[in-house]
Amino acid sequence: MTIFDRRNETMRPDLVEQVQLERLQALLARLRRNVRRYADIVGDTQIDSLSDVSRLPFTTPDDLVSAFPYGMFALPLREVIRLHSNVGPGGKQLVCGYTNNDLIQWGRLTARQLVAAGVTSNDVLQIGFGDGFLAHSLGFMLGAELIEASVIPEDTSHIEYQLQVLGSYRTTVLITTPTNAAELVDLLHATKTDAQSLHLRSVILTRPVPAGLREDLETGLFARVQCCFGIPEITNPGFCVECEHGRFHVNEDQFLVEIHEGELVVTTLSREAMPLLRYRTQVACSLQRGKCSCGRTGAMVTPGDRLDGQLRVREMPLYEGQVADVLDKTEAAGQPFSLEISDKEVAISIEMSQRLFGDQMRLLADLREQIRSEFRTRLGIPAVVRYVAPMSSVEERDLPGQPASEG
Ligand SMILES: [Zn+2]
Repeated sequence: MTIFDRRNETMRPDLVEQVQLERLQALLARLRRNVRRYADIVGDTQIDSLSDVSRLPFTTPDDLVSAFPYGMFALPLREVIRLHSNVGPGGKQLVCGYTNNDLIQWGRLTARQLVAAGVTSNDVLQIGFGDGFLAHSLGFMLGAELIEASVIPEDTSHIEYQLQVLGSYRTTVLITTPTNAAELVDLLHATKTDAQSLHLRSVILTRPVPAGLREDLETGLFARVQCCFGIPEITNPGFCVECEHGRFHVNEDQFLVEIHEGELVVTTLSREAMPLLRYRTQVACSLQRGKCSCGRTGAMVTPGDRLDGQLRVREMPLYEGQVADVLDKTEAAGQPFSLEISDKEVAISIEMSQRLFGDQMRLLADLREQIRSEFRTRLGIPAVVRYVAPMSSVEERDLPGQPASEG
């Protein structure tokens, strides 16, 4: 496999440290000058070596929420040419801004991953995500255009059409979510389509998957699977590169990484519009240094679980607080509930009360539809609603208005 940015991806560790220190010092000067929040808390702390970074304050997702929308920006809005919304703690909105240089850099970082996956200008790339993945799509587009691969951006909501495009355009590289990739495998089985009849060579997934699922997808799609790992507030794709040995190498010329009490903490070293100092990513992680035979020298990270209770349904981030917020907009407001989360849907068991018990079957059915509709429109995820007896959040009981089956 080739390396897109050999100078930066294989830089000697002592040189990386030197680059990081210089960029960190420049970053502190910019933050003091341009971001009031940082000017107040960084003060005149001087950094003489990388280990001094531990004397600097952390930034948390809550800081981004409270600074929403522009409080973390280090440049005037007229220089910020792209804004991407993200979901923050408890489902609150936060935003990331990019200058023109930020977008150019993002493209170059994404290209590192694409080239590591073997993408060349001869490839036909199908970038297929559902709702909520626009930032991913645009990031991959920037990288793919830099490599001059042919790009087909498309929407995955019509999976039959997606499969048709895979076949008729002779797509060689598919970039998508693990859920969508698994659904494509199911569709190939269901339609008795031989995966080898497609021209797929490589599949790039938005997030790491367990080894078993990776093998299933590789067999099912008859293609090599590589994964991305990143944090939307930092960058994703583009934070690190998964090499041919399955190791996630951080792009350390751009990101300073630390592990604090098991959590990944990242400082963006060159970002212009919204630099983040010691950002607590809420992702459990371990970090390893050493040689990898791919030649890359970037620190190797092994990401683990989310530490902030963030769940995932159809690849969309979800917090329990969001479920309560949505229910509060319906007749079920204030009712105790429990959740069962799967990759495909969220199942909500709502405890019945005298108030809901007394309702007619019709009203409970209406309420069920109202809740499902609110979940679809507000969070973009499918919901299944059950009514359960009080104090029994698991056992479903025969209750008025309980249809025989779920739709
Ligand atoms: Zn490697």
